[in-house]
Amino acid sequence: MSDKADKSNIVNYKFHHVDISKCKRCKAFSCEDACFRGIYEVLNKDTEPMCVVVEDREDNCVKCHICTTACKLKAITID
Ligand code: SF4
Ligand code: SF4
Repeated sequence: MSDKADKSNIVNYKFHHVDISKCKRCKAFSCEDACFRGIYEVLNKDTEPMCVVVEDREDNCVKCHICTTACKLKAITID
């Protein structure tokens, strides 16, 4: 498989993009703890994990990129 993300797996918010196919095999859920602005919530941790951006918090993002570094599966991109 190539490194290129399959766009069909990407959930796009205003300027956050999450490859939820990667979240499915995540066990760390680092995004939630990493973001001090509480932008992320990981749903279905016990079954099929999926990171979501809490939409009314997205504008609180300061683009520090702590989350993109913390997510070892590189599921998150920020414009
Ligand atoms: S964004 Fe990264 S750390 Fe968060 S659930 Fe998805 S794969 Fe895991
Ligand atoms: S860039 Fe910083 S503030 Fe924005 S979502 Fe990531 S950790 Fe949170």
